[in-house]
Amino acid sequence: MLTTTMPGNAYDVALENFDAAADALGLEKDTREMIKYPERVLTVSVPVRMDDGHIRRFEAYRVQHSTARGPAKGGIRFHPQVTLDEVKALATWMTWKCAVVNIPYGGGKGGVTCDPKHMSQGELERMTRRYTSAILPLIGPQQDIPAPDVYTNSQTMAWIMDTYSMTKGYTIPGVVTGKPIGLGGSLGRNEATGRGVFNTIESACEHLHMTLKGAKVVVQGFGNAGSIAAQLLHDAGARVIAVSDSTGCVYNRDGLNVPELIHMKALCGHVDGFPESEPILPHELLALECDILVPAALENMIHADNAGAVRARIVAEAANGPVTPAADRILESKGVFLIPDILCNAGGVTVSYFEWVQDEQHLFWEAQDIYNRLERVMKTAFREVLKIHIDRNLPMRIAANMLGIGRVAEAVHIRGIYP
Ligand code: GLU
Repeated sequence: MLTTTMPGNAYDVALENFDAAADALGLEKDTREMIKYPERVLTVSVPVRMDDGHIRRFEAYRVQHSTARGPAKGGIRFHPQVTLDEVKALATWMTWKCAVVNIPYGGGKGGVTCDPKHMSQGELERMTRRYTSAILPLIGPQQDIPAPDVYTNSQTMAWIMDTYSMTKGYTIPGVVTGKPIGLGGSLGRNEATGRGVFNTIESACEHLHMTLKGAKVVVQGFGNAGSIAAQLLHDAGARVIAVSDSTGCVYNRDGLNVPELIHMKALCGHVDGFPESEPILPHELLALECDILVPAALENMIHADNAGAVRARIVAEAANGPVTPAADRILESKGVFLIPDILCNAGGVTVSYFEWVQDEQHLFWEAQDIYNRLERVMKTAFREVLKIHIDRNLPMRIAANMLGIGRVAEAVHIRGIYP
């Protein structure tokens, strides 16, 4: 993979960020002990018959970090770099994320260490179904609800929903979100993460008295979140001057034609070689002078060694955990306005919640209704985080974590400890 990532442990980052916010909240030790660590961790072995007849074993995980405010909720990632610590970090962030946008969920995450780019559809289907059967005791519409994440999509969710339903003996759409529309999926779910990123960028621009029209945007990572955020920013009149994916980076100082870039990526699977652009290197992309930088790839992409080069006014974290704590301090000292991941990319899980509610009610909403509700949720959460940031004079990341962690702490206090 073409990245500038530093080896770093995402779970250490999650714990460090927790401590900073818990300190600022003045959270006592007992509460910290109860909410900091995952409630349940499951490691499973997933044997799959590959197309050549051989059997391959994949290591896979499902982590439930918290169920204090409702069922565990969070995506499933298929990626060669998936580790248990990564999944624990991502599950932890889901807990605070769901609390920041105030939806009635805890946090969870799953992952399979595999390279989906080098697997056939048949191999992916068999792997997904066997993984589902291995985590079956944990998941369910009232227990733990998976969704798409890096390199999983609505088809993956359809296989999980089918496997789960076959085992139970009847159809249970609410066991996953991010399903195809024809299976009880929600309008707007596919674009939800990118749309939420866009909503929070709008709020940040308003706060900073910046206008989106003509703003220079750089997007690192061109998957679901990055490409849709880029499209919406482009539609709002911003100039997307550079984009990267795992194959390369493309740059055009006058602005890239985003719809055509998305079209090419869908056809060829990469952005590399896009007409009317010049190739640049990943470290050059991060150092471009711009108004808005959107890291939309993986964790730890902006770290102590490259954060100093960032020349953006706003960093909008469409990815989970793209900026390390050391890089946070550097960006903060440079006056960069950060929209932290658990706020910025919460649009995905928010529309997942809408999907689950629609499935439970067997009643489906119109697209515009979903966009309006999503915008309301994102902008309310932004305002609440910004208020803590201003009132307490603390970084946006700490403010967001305080809001999320504070809500989980409150739930735990009210519930008390069992037995
Ligand atoms: N994988 C997405 C995230 O990291 C969405 C999770 C969900 O919809 O449950 O927020």
